[in-house]
Amino acid sequence: MRRFEALSESHKRLPLNIDEIMKRSELFARNVFNDDKMLQFLTSEAYDKVQSAIFSGSKIDRKIADQVSEGMKAWALSMGATHYTHWFQPLTGATAEKHDAFFDLLSNGRAIEKFGGGQLVQQEPDASSFPSGGIRNTFEARGYTAWDPTSPAFVYKTTLCIPTVFVSYTGEALDNKAPLLRALHAIDEAATGVAQYFDKNVRKVNATLGWEQEYFLIDKALAQSRPDILMTGRTLVGKSAAKGQQLDDHYFGVIPSRVLSFMSALEKQCMLLGIPVKTRHNEVAPNQFELAPVFEEANLSVDHNLLLMDVMEEIANTHGFKVLFHEKPFAGINGSGKHNNWSLATDTGVNLLSPGSTPMKNLQFLTFFITTIKAVDNFEELLRSSIASASNDHRLGANEAPPAIMSIFVGKQLSEVLDELEGVSQGKLSPEEKTELKLNVVGKIPEILLDNTDRNRTSPFAFTGNKFEMRGVGSKMNCAKPMTVLNTIVAKQLTDFKKEVDALIDKKKLKKDEAVFNVLREYIKTSKRIRFDGDGYGKEWEQEARKRKLSNNKNTPVAIKVLTSKESIALFKATAVMNEVELAAHQEVELDNYVFHIQIEGRILGELVYNHIMPAAIKYQNLLLENVSGLKEVYGAAHKKMTEVQLNIIEKMGEHMTAMKKLADVMTEAKTKAEAMSNIAKKAQAYCDDVKPYFEQIREHADALETLVSDELWPLTKYRELLFVK
Ligand code: ADP
Ligand code: MG
Repeated sequence: MRRFEALSESHKRLPLNIDEIMKRSELFARNVFNDDKMLQFLTSEAYDKVQSAIFSGSKIDRKIADQVSEGMKAWALSMGATHYTHWFQPLTGATAEKHDAFFDLLSNGRAIEKFGGGQLVQQEPDASSFPSGGIRNTFEARGYTAWDPTSPAFVYKTTLCIPTVFVSYTGEALDNKAPLLRALHAIDEAATGVAQYFDKNVRKVNATLGWEQEYFLIDKALAQSRPDILMTGRTLVGKSAAKGQQLDDHYFGVIPSRVLSFMSALEKQCMLLGIPVKTRHNEVAPNQFELAPVFEEANLSVDHNLLLMDVMEEIANTHGFKVLFHEKPFAGINGSGKHNNWSLATDTGVNLLSPGSTPMKNLQFLTFFITTIKAVDNFEELLRSSIASASNDHRLGANEAPPAIMSIFVGKQLSEVLDELEGVSQGKLSPEEKTELKLNVVGKIPEILLDNTDRNRTSPFAFTGNKFEMRGVGSKMNCAKPMTVLNTIVAKQLTDFKKEVDALIDKKKLKKDEAVFNVLREYIKTSKRIRFDGDGYGKEWEQEARKRKLSNNKNTPVAIKVLTSKESIALFKATAVMNEVELAAHQEVELDNYVFHIQIEGRILGELVYNHIMPAAIKYQNLLLENVSGLKEVYGAAHKKMTEVQLNIIEKMGEHMTAMKKLADVMTEAKTKAEAMSNIAKKAQAYCDDVKPYFEQIREHADALETLVSDELWPLTKYRELLFVK
């Protein structure tokens, strides 16, 4: 679609649909095979087995699976479903599904609706077309999807979707969900062990996640007129609009009615699917918005985020929008992220990162709080690697999102508490010391947190009163990746913590709370470098972080090296989250993804330069030349004064075109060279260091040409047209 056609197309608007205004709670989880429906559709034996699989990860045998599939089928058919699919998360980052009809033919030609335990439990998609990082070659095995009973099945449109893991026949994870489930199992075990110091009744600890999804909405017709948005999800060229986000008039402003109608349709669909969306508002940049749900158990929350992104694309489409999840769709204005709020919750209903009303509750809080700090300190580089991607590289450290350096913000008051605890004496505590600690340090935490309002927006990992908020996660990303690493490192630290405390109790005969204080004091001492409450955007912090020996990995190929370090391999092995083969494979897939990403951007940019921008500039040059020679013909020698401007523009355009073409040629050469490399790590680094830097340089000339060429002739929809559609 050409630019002007696209602009006229964008005026076809959809009206606000009154029918959609309905009580949200009445819609909630109607399309989900949740506890209520299970009670209704399953035998009590099947129901109990599924419940225990959810609680303790116990296996479901074939007989029970047959019963569950019967019930699930009956429910799904009652909801109007005609097909079922295993819904999974291959390492492409998107979700995948392959639909099969319930319909089947018997040998006598009679049609029936069929869905057995076999189809519920295991399926074999054509795995060869999904990235595996060489796992399947190594093991010559195919991949299969296996039912994850901890995330309930749901009906979307006319399909029953069954959340599944995707693994090779030898059991290696080919997806993001399998490692996450293992990490969640690890943290459950480790945290339950520690929580039992404080409450013997705790049987299970769930990691909780509440994400905040940022996104842009642009007009669909306009998006279709831009090859770069269509193919890469971002604009590779485009001059900033005269008005950007300077006026701050968009942030928390009135939501435009067309957007509101999209949001309300989206929220209705989310409700049906059991995604507990709650908050919506405008974000900082024009056309940027945010949506946040009530937090949930992490695995479910990750699934809901992925499902949400799929649903959003679809609903945006029917509302004449395209939704952009890319971390940096537009230069010069803020990009998008996805804060991950994380905590730990017991089956007794306690948030372990929430201070309580008694000193004992607060000691529990401090234990989980300080252990998390220590874990992040030990594995800061690994945590950074979990949010690395080609598109997120644009955002981290660009002074709109946290830097690539991991650090933790705890705030002034909690810093003071940690400082005081550091002074606790080693070994046994005197009665006075104990009273002082309990009353004046630990006991006062809830009070100080009440007015702990200093929020540092520049911190990548901030404590926000009753949870940690991980802020560097990319808007497009699958939260499973950071959640796997975070839960794994904290699980490891909690396990170590318990061992150390138990040793002090057994060998040094310390009381439990003395032992806990002793270990915490050591953790506070040894993890100080990770705590930083200052300005994370400043240059000073980069220097200071270097002194503290914190990593500052600015691009993906460098950032993901650590995935296969000796320490990472040992960590993932000890927690049984990933083995060495899986780590190497996942790293390889990440590198591949990176290469494809930059490769595609390079190609599209080349296309824009040669097939869109240059032809437009030449056309305008010709128009000006025609004008110059016409004036010369009519006015003779007197034309000089009249053609000065035209000639100047012609020359300027010539200069930019020459420079732009030269750069595009060198970029293409660099691309060819990188492409020929066989080592994937070197190849990714070459794309990063030798190809990508040309993108910005080429863009400068392209954007300069945009300012020179007549608006009428410019072939690409401009920023002001993309960003201010109401
Ligand atoms: P903001 O960060 O914008 O100030 P809130 O503090 O209200 O907003 O919460 C942001 C997100 O934190 C929400 O998505 C919410 O679900 C999530 N959240 C709140 N408590 C927890 C928790 N215990 N565990 C995980 N996420 C939580
Ligand atoms: Mg937030």
